[in-house]
Amino acid sequence: MNDPDPMTQQAALAVAVATPVAGIYDYLAGPALDASRGSLVTVPFGRRHLLGIVMGPALGDVPMTKLRAVETLVKLPPLSDALVLFIERVAAWTMAPIGAVVKMVLSQPAAFGRPPQQKRYYYKIPEAGVRLTVSRQKIIDYLAAQTLPQTPDDHKILGEISPDAPSNTPSHVRSATGVTAAAVSAACGVSQAVLNGMEDAGLVRVELVSADQLPPALRHDLSHGAPRVTFTADQQKAAFHLRQAVGKGFRACLLDGVTGSGKTEVYFEAVEAAVAAGQQVLILLPEIALSAAWRARFTARFGVPPVEWHSDISPAQKRKSWRFVLQGRADVVVGARSALFLPFSRLGLIIVDEEHEHAFKQEDQVIYQARDMAVLRGRLEQVPVVLASATPSLESWVNAGKTVLPARYDYLQLPKRVHNARLPDITAIDLRQTPPERGRWLAPPLVEAIEARLQAGEQSLLFLNRRGYAPLTLCGACGTKVTCPNCDSWMVAHRLAGRLRCHHCGHESRPSNDCKACGANDQMQACGPGVERLAEEVLFRFPESRFALLSSDTVGTPKAAEAFIRSVSDGEVDIIIGTQMAAKGHHFPHLTLVGVVDADLGLAGGDLRAAERTFQMLSQVAGRAGRESRPGAAMLQTLEPENPVLVSLIAGDRDAFLAQEAAARNAAGMPPFGRLAAVIIASPYEDRLHQALRQLGANRPQFDAVQIYGPAIAPIGFLKGKHRARLLVRADKGVNIQHILNDWLGVIKLPSSVRMQIDIDPYSFL
Ligand code: ADP
Ligand code: ZN
Repeated sequence: MNDPDPMTQQAALAVAVATPVAGIYDYLAGPALDASRGSLVTVPFGRRHLLGIVMGPALGDVPMTKLRAVETLVKLPPLSDALVLFIERVAAWTMAPIGAVVKMVLSQPAAFGRPPQQKRYYYKIPEAGVRLTVSRQKIIDYLAAQTLPQTPDDHKILGEISPDAPSNTPSHVRSATGVTAAAVSAACGVSQAVLNGMEDAGLVRVELVSADQLPPALRHDLSHGAPRVTFTADQQKAAFHLRQAVGKGFRACLLDGVTGSGKTEVYFEAVEAAVAAGQQVLILLPEIALSAAWRARFTARFGVPPVEWHSDISPAQKRKSWRFVLQGRADVVVGARSALFLPFSRLGLIIVDEEHEHAFKQEDQVIYQARDMAVLRGRLEQVPVVLASATPSLESWVNAGKTVLPARYDYLQLPKRVHNARLPDITAIDLRQTPPERGRWLAPPLVEAIEARLQAGEQSLLFLNRRGYAPLTLCGACGTKVTCPNCDSWMVAHRLAGRLRCHHCGHESRPSNDCKACGANDQMQACGPGVERLAEEVLFRFPESRFALLSSDTVGTPKAAEAFIRSVSDGEVDIIIGTQMAAKGHHFPHLTLVGVVDADLGLAGGDLRAAERTFQMLSQVAGRAGRESRPGAAMLQTLEPENPVLVSLIAGDRDAFLAQEAAARNAAGMPPFGRLAAVIIASPYEDRLHQALRQLGANRPQFDAVQIYGPAIAPIGFLKGKHRARLLVRADKGVNIQHILNDWLGVIKLPSSVRMQIDIDPYSFL
């Protein structure tokens, strides 16, 4: 990497190791002498052996004689320059230790082990020119039929490739493979011995190829043959724009269109263009678990399923996919936010679908916003990034030039649902005027509306973003609430499971009939509704109806979700009672009514994004109604129908909402008009926490363009067994907030029992 030291005749290089440490470290190059930046190595680290990435020449801060040596150079192509730069920039932006980011990239250590198993593939040799026995002739005929056309190169790309020969071959130009012994035996009814004999006699050729199945090639030429949708003028315009953008460097586009307006169909055009140009595509989706319908759409469009990357994919599959992505042999990857850190070698396009979803924000270890980091990666890779949503985030709205700030993104709009399906009619039910009966949660107008749907054979969805039976259990005699021992929070009653659960730390206990505080018997009362309690009310009010619960407790796996969605689509359910899981992009053709049980719920917290989040969630869930020919209705139960969020929702005026919200944030200097960072301090010991806070307070920076709020005890002051406090740093847009935090926090030595986390652009304020 750099010139060898004249004394030791050794070269050294700098390595970022895959463990959460902030520095990069010098090592003697050893086997990595000629390694370039991005090469993958294993190194000794303390008493461990870790994977790492060669970052460049040695830093030289440790004398050569004290350095340990790289152990192995991994036989895989190096990471791209853009990816290495991305790692550095993500670490700098999020202020996470670079090793933690490296760990996310090298998330599949198994991918670096021995190359995949080799399988023997048999090929016919042209014109052997000898007389053959019947069974041998049979085999030759069979091979001849299987392996044409054939060149020596065909199978080479299937095998393990050498690190210096990354495949730039898009999968669609790959051709036929050889035949396994098993296939030959099955087809010709001969034993392995016959094949072995032929191999020895030089009558067949044998190749060793990787046992890992390549992802199937995309049929990107489908558009020229199979019938597809005929685009509307708006769709055509957007699709044209996106196709044009492929191959022309970085740009970000906001694709804004109501649910069902054809956004997916439109961005598939860009996917096709990129794949046809021999590039890889990354598609990020928020709730991958529920994307069976999405997968089906993709498969119908491109002939094969995409490579998937999320928590439900097995480690074995991930190991394979990781290598294929690095080797440039996986064309399209669809995944959750962690897919953003895959080692693409010829990335050509990034799509972030449902870009407004808060699930893109990772809240632990490396705290990052995948949508923002996707734009960063697109910039470094010099490829276009498409952000799609029916309810764009305020950030993207502002970046698309919709407010006082100049546009940085292209803006593409699909204003209409296809087939002129109408958007649902949204109304409020004022609970002050028509409250439900005591101990019930559905107000009379909503009950009537459900009744009407049942009569008409149509489906209803009751939406309440609260899992379990009741959010609070208290003693009717003394008023004591059942709380979590590890957190400042209530234990949520889950009657189906027969448990009380803390939704913050997962602590569980058995519900008791006795009050732990005063000892009273049979006085424990459930307060407030969760979806399970609504189900009880539905059973009481509509005993004949078929209802089903949709929450992560009842529908926990992708398979279960798929089955659930199918049963709803097949009309086996009259009433769905669901949490936010029900708000996502499902298409329920017979659903014509959405009842929001508590439209005020999300607004109560009042954090920076409470209004935005509520608006997005309620418009998403309302959008579930009336997606086909029958018109849909959404009813919002509220105690405050005059709340501006609800007023905009009811008026169907999303842009008015965004304008209001933007104005309010601008006036307060809040993101995206200003910058925000949270510093969270936690310790099992309260005194240590306060000691740390005093230190932080004493050193706080003072600048005109920066305000520091706090420290204050966090809204959840005790979480998972730790006391917590927060500081909030606000700065004007032009300020480098990371720089300020580095200067301030870099000099502070915290006791080992105190942990500090920095959250740049926080979404959670707990
Ligand atoms: P979105 O992603 O905006 O929700 P989709 O792309 O999923 O919208 O489109 C909704 C449905 O309409 C899909 O079934 C899609 O195949 C269909 N569709 C989209 N555009 C057209 C069109 N121009 N003609 C007919 N069907 C279309
Ligand atoms: Zn807890």
